[in-house]
Amino acid sequence: MASEHVPAAPGTQPSAGRRVALVTEPGHVAHAAPGHVERPERTIAIVEQLERTGLAARMRPLAPRAATDAELLAVHDQGLLDAVAAAGAYGGAWLDSDTYVTPASPDIARRIAGGAVAATEAVIAGDLDSAFLATRPCGHHATPSSAMGFCLYNHVALAAAAALRAGVERVAIVDWDVHHGNGTQAIFEADPRVLYFSTHASPFYPGTGAADETGSGAARGTKANVPLAHGTGDAGFVAAYEQVCVPLLERHRPQLVLVSSGWDSHARDPLGTLNVSTAGYTRVAQLVLEAAQRLCAGRAVVVLEGGYDLHALAWCASALCELLLGDPPTADPDPSRYPDGPDAARVIAAARRALRLE
Ligand SMILES: [Zn+2]
Repeated sequence: MASEHVPAAPGTQPSAGRRVALVTEPGHVAHAAPGHVERPERTIAIVEQLERTGLAARMRPLAPRAATDAELLAVHDQGLLDAVAAAGAYGGAWLDSDTYVTPASPDIARRIAGGAVAATEAVIAGDLDSAFLATRPCGHHATPSSAMGFCLYNHVALAAAAALRAGVERVAIVDWDVHHGNGTQAIFEADPRVLYFSTHASPFYPGTGAADETGSGAARGTKANVPLAHGTGDAGFVAAYEQVCVPLLERHRPQLVLVSSGWDSHARDPLGTLNVSTAGYTRVAQLVLEAAQRLCAGRAVVVLEGGYDLHALAWCASALCELLLGDPPTADPDPSRYPDGPDAARVIAAARRALRLE
């Protein structure tokens, strides 16, 4: 995609109805470990909500396919593919203290990876406007060589690699999971074509994502981190997107926006500590998707990452899908209000300085 002005395919205008894919992987229930928070009920809650609200019926089902070795090797090394396959073949294993593999996991992980690639290729080809992958496990901690943090393969990185293969010159990945996407950042550390932006709680797992981590060599200024204090709340979270993420998107001018959509920054989340409400998450999604509309005709692929409270997952996902479809988002009926915590102005200013936004 050499041109800035890719002609809109027929039907891409909101009046004609946005073509939004919903990618699910029904076999995921066989990837489960007793008592683990990363459990099948997560995506089941999302899909049930999308069906109950009628949103699923307006989206296009996209069945995942198994990613090829070549597609996986675009961001991972053979050792990781072999480790995942061997763990499954030997009846299941733990690849680190919180990352499990069942006998079914290697095939499931490969199909989710293939789903991310297929959805991205369809968006780039103009067959879809956007896509949402309600899939698990998550992916953004997976590095070139290691599964970690519940993640086997890095789906959002595989999507970015597919877009670059298809001729896209600039991709943006926005990561609003409460944890830093260390794997995604590592994969594209020296690649100036890929903007990576993350908000996350700090200090927190996996320990990376300081404001001065901005990429190396020619990629300096294309990796962006806003490490927020525990308890930050909606005001600081939204400000990070208004004052750092959106200006970076405007500077990078992506031709495709990918989202690592972890909803574990939510106040209800049992792991996350950022105290963000559904309304705060929805506002941030709106800012990012509006930027995608301005910059790349709304081309976006949103991949589920973390998020472990079923109510938060369901309501954040349905608001996101409403935005993808061009509808006003429906408010979460939970009446809880969450107070704003520490002021984020200092860390936002540090990130802007590190990225030379001022
Ligand atoms: Zn997370």
